[in-house]
Amino acid sequence: MSFLIPDELQDIREKTALGQRLDSAEALQLFECRDLNALGQLANEANHRKNGDRASYILNRYFNYSNYCILSCKFCAFSRKKRDADGFELAVAGMAQKAREALSIGITELHIVGGLHPSLPFSYYTEMIRELKAVDERLQLKCFTSIEILHLAWLAKKPVQEVLGEFKSLGLDSLTGGGAEIFRKDIRDRIALGKETAEEYLDVHRTWHTLGGKSTCTMLFGHLETPEDRVDHMRQLRELQDETGGFTGFIPLPYQPDNNEIPVEHPPDGFDMLRTLAVARLYLDNFDHITAYWVGMGIKLAQVALNYGADDLHGTILEEKIFHMAGADAPQLQTETDMIQAIREAGRVPVQRDTFYEPIRQRAGEEALAKA
Ligand code: SF4
Repeated sequence: MSFLIPDELQDIREKTALGQRLDSAEALQLFECRDLNALGQLANEANHRKNGDRASYILNRYFNYSNYCILSCKFCAFSRKKRDADGFELAVAGMAQKAREALSIGITELHIVGGLHPSLPFSYYTEMIRELKAVDERLQLKCFTSIEILHLAWLAKKPVQEVLGEFKSLGLDSLTGGGAEIFRKDIRDRIALGKETAEEYLDVHRTWHTLGGKSTCTMLFGHLETPEDRVDHMRQLRELQDETGGFTGFIPLPYQPDNNEIPVEHPPDGFDMLRTLAVARLYLDNFDHITAYWVGMGIKLAQVALNYGADDLHGTILEEKIFHMAGADAPQLQTETDMIQAIREAGRVPVQRDTFYEPIRQRAGEEALAKA
């Protein structure tokens, strides 16, 4: 499908076609553009230059090892205090058993995050990585947000670099991108007081990349921030990517409005989600992969996003808690067949990927559909 590109976007189209970088004023102009189809077309063209017709998904399983947390971020409907009846923490042996079950159905990645637990010892986390890696060394472990890493370094009384090095040697494959929220300080303080600063978030990822590690990064949007704040957030991620090249993908996370105290009149709608993905694709010229996070968007809109700059639908997930406790009404899992079908119906070639967005099976679509 091709749309008429309005005059005000022609310069941007030319720049991106020539591989020239957009500046922050141009990114802002894109956020202000009301012609979503034209914006989507530019993003689609940019995506096609990087990824062709391919769109990826991953077979993964989520684990939240605990929802106890010493912080109280305002947008968070997941965390609990020790006095709460619905707090939980998982035993490592139970996680290993679930990991074996996941492996038997073809899962390639465990995605593991939790709250900042008030009392678990550092050895719990090292044992968790060791035991899960022992299930099968091909199982890729994508664990911890940057604030968890800072918490664990504090717990171990060790520098961040040493803790990351220890986790890496035990089998940690990737950091998650969670916890970036929005970098601008006054908004960050209003929604997540006490969380790490933008500089600390970036520094944890920088340190991990310096050790040879890879990670994803995120942005929570659609709450109290302005379009300028979104551009500023992505600019800082782009600068770190220039420096290290360690980000595998960018995952914009639409804010979920339920069960929290932030006064948001207009949580992100479908237009805003598609526009944010499209701007990310055009502005983050040094990122290969932009993920449409179906848990926050719903699979149908995530599928549409494959024509607005996104090239990845994220994963099967199996058991998502954080977004669902905040009101996400998407199901808690997608089957591989559902994801393949969504990608194929969007006119893309489905590719099963690993944690690093590397292809595992290019023709997974046809094979899995034939079995269904
Ligand atoms: S977002 Fe993370 S750090 Fe903040 S309260 Fe929730 S679990 Fe804790």
